[in-house]
Amino acid sequence: MPYTYDDQNIFAKILRGEIPNQTVAETDHTLAFADIAPAAPVHVLVIPKGRYVTYDDFHTNASDAEIVDFHRLAARICADKGIAPDGGDGFRAITNAGNHGVQEVPHFHLHLIGGRPLGRMLA
Ligand code: 5GP
Repeated sequence: MPYTYDDQNIFAKILRGEIPNQTVAETDHTLAFADIAPAAPVHVLVIPKGRYVTYDDFHTNASDAEIVDFHRLAARICADKGIAPDGGDGFRAITNAGNHGVQEVPHFHLHLIGGRPLGRMLA
């Protein structure tokens, strides 16, 4: 079943400039901003500007240019924030998808979390 994108979701409103955000970085295809309720000293959300609901929707339907741009920007943010293992103490990248994944906002996003020991977590 194809994904149905909800244009009223909160990240769509951020992309349209209807809700303010604390922008960390931006490219033609991707926006990164601070999470409003940070789980750690560094908590950045990376989102594609395109209308993708989940991880699998994005990686199935986005162009190669969008996908490469997204991941290159995420990696650059980790370096810029000093949380990449090369020079920093490491981070966790999480994406929640659908009901069992407890996805709150139905616009694909990657959480980049770091700045403190995060403990072991697989579920
Ligand atoms: P999810 O549970 O969908 O993976 O994560 C959604 C994230 O979006 C949560 O960490 C939540 O704190 C964040 N969030 C929800 N509303 C807003 C908002 O209006 N602005 C920002 N910057 N983050 C938000």
